Amino acid sequence: MPQSFHQFAAACAVVAIPTFAQAADVEALLAQMTLDEKLALLRGHKDPDPKIGLNSAGYLPGVPRLGIPPLRLVDGPAGIRTDAVATALPAPIALAATFDPALAQRYGKVLGNEGLARNQQILLSPMVNLVRVPQAGRNFETFGEDPLLASRIVATEISGIQQQGMLATVKHFAVNNQESSRLSINVAVDQRSLHELYLPAFAAAVDAGVASVMCAYNQVNSAYACENQQLLNVVLRQQWGFNGFVMTDWWANHSLTALTNGLNMEMPGFTHPEYAAQVHFDGPLRSALLNNQVSPAAVDNAVRPLLTQLNQFGYLDNPLPIPPFNQQHGHAEALSIAEQGAVLLKNDNSFLPLTPAQLSRTLLVGPTANWTLQGGGGSSRVLPAQRDSTRAMLSTLSGQTTISYVPGFASDGLPIPASVWQHNKRQGIEMTASNGQRQLIAAVEHLGKSALVGAGMWYWFADLVAPETGEYLLHVQTDGPVASVYLNDKRVLYNDAGIVSNAEIVPTQDGLRNSTTALQLTQGEHYRVKVEAWTGDNNPVQLRLRWLPPSAHAKVISDAVTAAATADKILVFAYQEGTETQDRSSLALPGLQDEVISALAAAHPDKVAVVLNVGAPVTMPWLEHVSAVLQMWYPGQAGGEATARLLLGLSNPAGKLPVSFPRSEQDLPTQSPAQFPGVNGNLHYSEGLYMGYRWYDQQQREPLFPFGHGLSYTTFTYSDLQLTQNSDNTSVSVTVQNTGQRAGAEVVQLYLAQPNSSVPTEVRKLVDFSKVQLTAGESKRVNLQVPHSSLRYWDSTTQAWQPLAGTKTVSVGASSRDLRLSADFLYAPTPASPLP
Ligand code: BGC
Repeated sequence: MPQSFHQFAAACAVVAIPTFAQAADVEALLAQMTLDEKLALLRGHKDPDPKIGLNSAGYLPGVPRLGIPPLRLVDGPAGIRTDAVATALPAPIALAATFDPALAQRYGKVLGNEGLARNQQILLSPMVNLVRVPQAGRNFETFGEDPLLASRIVATEISGIQQQGMLATVKHFAVNNQESSRLSINVAVDQRSLHELYLPAFAAAVDAGVASVMCAYNQVNSAYACENQQLLNVVLRQQWGFNGFVMTDWWANHSLTALTNGLNMEMPGFTHPEYAAQVHFDGPLRSALLNNQVSPAAVDNAVRPLLTQLNQFGYLDNPLPIPPFNQQHGHAEALSIAEQGAVLLKNDNSFLPLTPAQLSRTLLVGPTANWTLQGGGGSSRVLPAQRDSTRAMLSTLSGQTTISYVPGFASDGLPIPASVWQHNKRQGIEMTASNGQRQLIAAVEHLGKSALVGAGMWYWFADLVAPETGEYLLHVQTDGPVASVYLNDKRVLYNDAGIVSNAEIVPTQDGLRNSTTALQLTQGEHYRVKVEAWTGDNNPVQLRLRWLPPSAHAKVISDAVTAAATADKILVFAYQEGTETQDRSSLALPGLQDEVISALAAAHPDKVAVVLNVGAPVTMPWLEHVSAVLQMWYPGQAGGEATARLLLGLSNPAGKLPVSFPRSEQDLPTQSPAQFPGVNGNLHYSEGLYMGYRWYDQQQREPLFPFGHGLSYTTFTYSDLQLTQNSDNTSVSVTVQNTGQRAGAEVVQLYLAQPNSSVPTEVRKLVDFSKVQLTAGESKRVNLQVPHSSLRYWDSTTQAWQPLAGTKTVSVGASSRDLRLSADFLYAPTPASPLP
């Protein structure tokens, strides 16, 4: 039987992929298993002891009598998501912005270590769907828009996770690039774009030895991803040689056919009223076996890959590894990755970094200055082991005791005056307490001594008579389990607890969970409002309904300008919360943020910098009028410290954009509704290869910030490009010098252009990159490769890669639009040369 975990761990220290596969063991095991035992491994179950599993996302019972342990499946991409605390790592998009595969390996190690420490064995991460549309809700969970970058990052992250002894799952296979209609949308994508853009990072995960693949909710060319014979059996297994197991996304199986089309495991596998019809690998499978519609061999084929992987990881007949949770290590890694993923987008006249003396006359504006927005929402959200803030860390690191701060955007809203409420022709709101008692009250403001006491359901009814016409921001804020607001019987706000909650992540200034919606109301109109709240056993529960009427917007903006009157420097912390299940309807920053930034920049020229906590591109109508922009993404639990260190110059920004930032929504490749969000359940990737920077280059359109862009507090020059060709690849070397005053790192990027090829190609594509650390004045020679596998295209007719002969241009530079040096070479594969 397999070796002990310790031997296994020792072996893993030197090789990325554990290899203890003993086919004979697995076959012997299969032969001893009853049909029930096999079927139990083809679908998830309810955890019999969620306390032990700490509420994981999925559970497999194993077959304890045969040494197959029960297994727990856990999210996620930015940290281990259970009911217990874990290191909240920077969002994966921030990791991608480091352009540093070695850091991705360290990121993976934290995930692997903490997953096992929480008694979880299968990690539902990493996610490698590309950023195709900047509006997509889960962009922050991805590695950006480029297949090469995503491939490099995913490969080492997987090796980091699996070296610890935890099984990784690459997700969501495939073309799951948006949240709109995600459960069923049919993606029509041509084979060339699929193979050249959307699949390479999955292939890289398979090459890195990933144990498991999660198939996506959506359909791919008219077949659901989880029963897609072409994707699962042909591409994944035959073409790539994947020998792990495929599990569904949660409730994503649609048929029994999936079993023979390449699916191994249905998740979470137990019935749920909403998804009862989606459990196929139990009752329907048993009937099909009885009727000989499915053969016992098909069941063996489905179970085998899981057993093979468990064998390889040393899980069979061995106690599950439960290392200690190394909180300090996780935090230190989170800090280092957050710092290195930060992207300095603009820095006119060296506005940043700030000296401690400047800091004393600096005003911080925006709630995320005072409360770090560690991550996005949805299944990747983590209960952080620690929490910090930039404001507090600026103070600690600089020795300045008070750092001035205003929330600035009024995201908490204002009290709603009693005069706008009417109930049965009387002024006020009718409240029905959980004990059934009714009373007329002046406001839904139950705080402190007026908090709700009494377990159960509470209701408030009234007509809201709008005092003016325009856009109102309405908020429901609570610390209770759940609250909803209905306007004319339509639910407009839903605020629930838990880490997969619909509420906003950033709390109110007084710590309540906030939910906001924008409503267009007309003066004098009556709107039927119902608020309902469930207090559960949480007593007392605080709850309030707030708003920002149209006429108050101007005051919020002028208050921010006034607050900044005496400041020498103004740092505005702007944010946007990305989340699973929702795409953004606009690329603008939400609420009044753009207005506040523009007003501050107009009133205080040359004094304003913006720190962004966004997980995907946003538009910046104020860009020309601010001096600096630092993109911190969602920086994880050490994000406040990382931001403070960068602002003070204790650390030098070195991140580069893994996504293009457009100037406006009109500049995106996905202009037609058929391309996004889809029409009648269909989505056409008709832009083909021209996605991300490939689009801006082909259209000769200037993005706001190009792919690969990122400044430093120092400067770098590039010189002496040399090109060497041999039979397997073409090498490029270049000298990079730090010409500034401080140490820094540069991500040297190599792009390839293949003009006049026999098929259309992108204007340029990234083919290699290398991060180089340089002290002030230092130069280094940097070596890069053009792998011959980049000199090919996917031929949809022959369904195979074909070499692309011809003259090629390689360019080296600091971004996809800042190319410093170029050289040409001829690629002339002979009929005898092996296919690239
Ligand atoms: C998400 C997956 C996640 C799963 C389990 C699904 O809704 O799409 O990414 O792993 O839930 O939480």
